[in-house]
Formats: sequence, C-alpha cells, structure tokens
Amino acid sequence: MSDTQYDYDLFTIGAGSGGVRASRLSSLMGAKVAIAEEYRPGGTCVIRGCVPKKFMVYASSFGKGFKHAEGYGWSADAVSFDWPTFRDAMNAEVDRLSGIYARNLANAGVELVHDRAEIVDAHTVRLVKADRTVTAKHILVAVGGAPNKDWTLEGVDHTITSNELFHLKTLPEHIVIAGGGYIACEFAQVFAGLGVKTCLVYRGDTVLRGFDEDVRIAVHEALKASGVRVITDTVFEKIVKHEDSDMKTVYLTNGVELEADQVVFAIGRDPYTKDLGLENAGVEIDDKGAIKVDAYSKTTADSIYAVGDVTNRVNLTPVAIREGAAFADTVFGGKPRGYDHATIPSAVFTQPPVGTVGLSEAEARREYGQIDIYKSIFTPMKYMLTEQRSRMMMKLVVRASDDVVVGCHMVGDDSPEIIQAVGIAVKAGLTKAQFDDTCAVHPSVAEELVTMKEKWTPPELKVG
Ligand code: NDP
Repeated sequence: MSDTQYDYDLFTIGAGSGGVRASRLSSLMGAKVAIAEEYRPGGTCVIRGCVPKKFMVYASSFGKGFKHAEGYGWSADAVSFDWPTFRDAMNAEVDRLSGIYARNLANAGVELVHDRAEIVDAHTVRLVKADRTVTAKHILVAVGGAPNKDWTLEGVDHTITSNELFHLKTLPEHIVIAGGGYIACEFAQVFAGLGVKTCLVYRGDTVLRGFDEDVRIAVHEALKASGVRVITDTVFEKIVKHEDSDMKTVYLTNGVELEADQVVFAIGRDPYTKDLGLENAGVEIDDKGAIKVDAYSKTTADSIYAVGDVTNRVNLTPVAIREGAAFADTVFGGKPRGYDHATIPSAVFTQPPVGTVGLSEAEARREYGQIDIYKSIFTPMKYMLTEQRSRMMMKLVVRASDDVVVGCHMVGDDSPEIIQAVGIAVKAGLTKAQFDDTCAVHPSVAEELVTMKEKWTPPELKVG
C-alpha cells in the first residue's frame, strides 16, 4: 500500500483513544503509520480523565458503603482513608495502562514518536523536539481537548483543573469547584465522599444543563444530600491567596466569600488546536477552535482528517474510538463510512450515577409534540435497611404516534451498567410494548424498566 513519495501513509497527531484506534487499525490494514504523542500514550481518558476519575469515584463511594453496611449488622467504627496510598495506587495503574497503549501500538506495527507534532503543510508535520519534518499521505489530528479556565479572573493562577486533581500532594480540607457539568458534579461528590468540605459554584440554577430535567433535579438534590454546598446563580469574582498559607479566599459575584485550600475550574474543555499549524494546510476551525469535519471526519484539507474531542462533536471516549475506526475503514479499508452520532448512551459518574440515552422529555416534545412519559422514583431495596437512603429515578420517553421508546434516563446505583443494555433497545427503535413484553429480573432495580404501566401525568394536569 505504501506510497514511496511520502515517509508514511498515515501520520497521527495525538495518542489518545481516537488516534490510537485509528492508527492501529490503519496499520493492520497495511498502511505505514506513525503516531506522535507529546505527553504519554493513552490521552485524556486513560491519563487524566475517565479511568483515574472512576478510581476516585470508587474510592469515594467505599466511605458510604461502610455506613450502609451498618444497617446490615456490620460495624465499621475505625475506618479511615489515606489519600497518598490511594493516589499512588491509582497512578500506578494509569502508568500500567499507558504502557499497554504503547505496547498495543508496537504490536500493530505503529511507530510511536514521543514528540510534539505541528502541521507544516497538507502532507508535512514538524517534530518539535527532534526539530525535523516528516511527510505523510494522510494526517490525522486527534489531539483532544484541554480544560478551560476563566483566564481574565483575578487570582486565576491560584486555581487548578481536573488535570491536577489526580496528583494532589495532600487531600484538601476545603475545596471549591466552579461549574455544573460532568466534571464539576462528579468531582464534587468524589471529594465530599472522601470527607472534604466541598462547595460547588454554578452560574445556572440546576446542574447538568442539557440533560433531562428529572435527571438534573435528581443530581442536584443528590449533591446536596451528600453534603456538597451548592451555590447557584453566581460565579467567581476573584481569588486571593493568603500570604501565610496555601488557603485562598474565593469571592463570588453574589457577595459570598469562601475559604478553600484548592479551587478548581470545571467549566468545560476546549479543542486543543492552538499552535498546531492547522492554518498552514487550510484546515478550518470553528469559533470554539474545533476542527470542522464532514461525515467521514475529513477536514477542509483533503489529506487531513480529525477525530475525537478536537472536532467537538460528541466528546466521549467511545465516540472517538468509533470515529477512529470509521476513519481507518474509509481511508485504508476501502469501505467509506461515517460514524452515526445518534442515540449514544452515556453516564455521569455522580453518586448515585446517571445513565442516559436518546432524547430528553423536552427534546422529544419539541421534536414529536405528543409523547408519553413513564416515570418511577423509588428507594432501591438495598437501602431499606440503611439509615442513609439513595433514591432511584427511572424514566422512559415514548413517542405517542408509534409507541417507540425515544429516550431513557435514570439516576441511581448501577445506572451506567443498566443504560448500556437499554441503549441497545433504544438504538434499535424498540417500542414500549416490546419493553413490556420482556420479563422482569426480580428483585432488581432494573425491572422497573419493564414494569412501568401507568403514563405519568404532570401534577398540574391531575384532577382532584
Ligand atoms: P461541561 O460542558 O459538561 O460543563 C461545563 C460547565 O461549566 C457548565 O455547567 C457551564 O455552565 C459552566 N461554565 C461554562 N463556562 C463558564 C464560565 N465562564 N463561568 C462559569 N461557569 C461556566 O464541561 P466539563 O468541564 O464538566 O466536561 C467537559 C466534557 O468532558 C463534557 O462535556 C463531556 O463531554 C466530557 N466528560 C465526560 C464524562 C463522562 O462521560 N462521564 C466525564 C467528564 C467529562 P452552563 O450549564 O450554564 O453552560
């Protein structure tokens, strides 16, 4: 396959989920492939995202587990948590996984270049440390995103982002987190569960904008129930570091002042396109810095493609992986195809977590007008014997015209595990009647999905 006019058939920039999958598959299809990574193979997901975050969620939730166990007759009086022990174990596992990524690339015949790569022209990249250029028939940009801060804020230098949270020397006593999205909500509960006095500062009124309203309300209430102080409708005004300690005073625009030893921005992530040289090859970006691509992930330059968060389509690891695979099929597999971004199941690892797929109630009403809602809010059996109770919310959004389930949303233990399976049914376009035909698994929380019989009526429409 190799075209001797170029050093490589494919040069990938960024060894995260999307770039690695695309490179390995392309190489296995016979292409000569190199991949550049300026930090460590694995990308956001493995190094500073999904993987270590989930370890932190586990670490945090064990604390609640001890409490719940008391209701079942266990006594766990002298439990304690040691941050350095956990942090080092977590990071050792991250190191191991990063090594596996590097080995998998080698096993697939992909050359891993430990360097920053920048685009010189449509077929050339410059390796910055090595100070040399290489050429490739195709270039794939898979550099992901980077956490955002309000850089204009006085005292912004005294803040950190999720990137640093995995490496803290000591567990903070007080933490203040700005934002009300995935990262802010997940980490607020992680730290509250680890015993840190946690405050979430959100500019809106209910966290997780864009999710189904019932999910937002359930998560918002769960944050408060787990001890997080949630301050809404305000943002940071300035941050002042104390002269004699690591403490900071966070001034909010509503006049409230907060003291914290760590102040975290979790206000979104931006595509990591700065100084990449995209303009040298005519690769266009949008106003957020995201690379514009067509359905096949091709940019505005014919030889350059982009996958994953750098394109700001659906910023999730499994999506980047699917986009990477579709790229390899398209460019090297002789099977041009895009990835269908509709009906992607996803989870938010709050405590309890969220599982969601398809349209929210509001989206479905906008799109279809007539819809039926089936909703159940209940205490799972596990908590019947415990003092601290966690509720479960389950909801099906059904298109009235043909009974098809167009959305499913849940908040409660195991929601991410359950939604993966429900995602198959919703993606397949199954009807509510087909859900009901499925026999319940008893006793389980998930059985509610096939036993919700009554349409939910908003309280204002109920008579009497
Ligand atoms: P999100 O986009 O989820 O949330 C950003 C939050 O910050 C919103 O609440 C937003 O408010 C608020 N915000 C934005 N700008 C400002 C500002 N200038 N001042 C104050 N608040 C602001 O971003 P995250 O950083 O939480 O996560 C980034 C992405 O990473 C996610 O979108 C997701 O794609 C991915 N991710 C996925 C996870 C998962 O699958 N479980 C886990 C973690 C991350 P408003 O609502 O008003 O816009």
